[in-house]
Amino acid sequence: MKYTGPVYRPPYEANTLLLQVTVGCAHNKCTFCTMYRDVQFSMEKLDQIERDLQEAKQQHPNVRRVFLVNGDAFVLSARRLKPIAELIHKYLPKVETITMYASVSNLKGKTDEELKELRELKINELWVGAETGHAETLTYLNKGTSLEDSQKQLKRLNQAGLDFYFGFMFGAAGSGKGMENAAATAKLINETNPIGIVPTTLGANANSPLANDIEDGKFQLATEIEVLEEQKKLIDLIEIETEYLGIHGINTVTFDSLLPRDKEKSIKRVDSYIERLDDAYLNSIPERHSI
Ligand code: SF4
Repeated sequence: MKYTGPVYRPPYEANTLLLQVTVGCAHNKCTFCTMYRDVQFSMEKLDQIERDLQEAKQQHPNVRRVFLVNGDAFVLSARRLKPIAELIHKYLPKVETITMYASVSNLKGKTDEELKELRELKINELWVGAETGHAETLTYLNKGTSLEDSQKQLKRLNQAGLDFYFGFMFGAAGSGKGMENAAATAKLINETNPIGIVPTTLGANANSPLANDIEDGKFQLATEIEVLEEQKKLIDLIEIETEYLGIHGINTVTFDSLLPRDKEKSIKRVDSYIERLDDAYLNSIPERHSI
């Protein structure tokens, strides 16, 4: 299999076949992200993708799930994604789900009809980096989309029957705004009905615009206790049935649960963690590297 540059995938796709269809990230401008900062975006050629699938057929003929890499692979047009999906089914006929990272802006570029056609080709789950439901924070993170875009585009996925996981970050709004961020993000989640919600926690990667803003005093990261209180608040405000997929190592308290069924248990879990930590640590800003 050919992989060019860094490859990232959700922790939950550890046993999934990774197929490269793009290199880097087409957007590559989010304030906090340096994952692909030095990588030139490009699209993989269809004949190389076919060679990779021929190899996959030899080694993993019974694969049921494929994750298309890299950073925002759903940036590919429906016209490009359809032949890729068709090749996957030609070589790996047992595949039931083709999934990938997507941005809200990637959804804007596809018609309702195209979303349905992609779903019929088993592109039926997406990992969407929505990041926050807090309008001012979304602008600061420089995702290139507005809160109205998130509301509209994620609902279009519901209408197309295309399931998605909602990625977001505790601490995204910075110190003093965790409760606002939790309330606004929970509201967006409740409105858009993702099958799972996937938290990470904001950290400052060296040389990111965020790190520069922190150095210049323009942004202040949330303390540990602020992040943990935000986590509890968000969990408390989730009203829809959705999986809480929180095992990413960047989070302080890592667990999976089903909401709202496990709401009380999940909040208690964070509380018991807080009780075990000393005040100095709770009031500090632990070093974290955002993804
Ligand atoms: S967070 Fe995602 S969309 Fe933003 S620059 Fe990083 S990989 Fe690209």
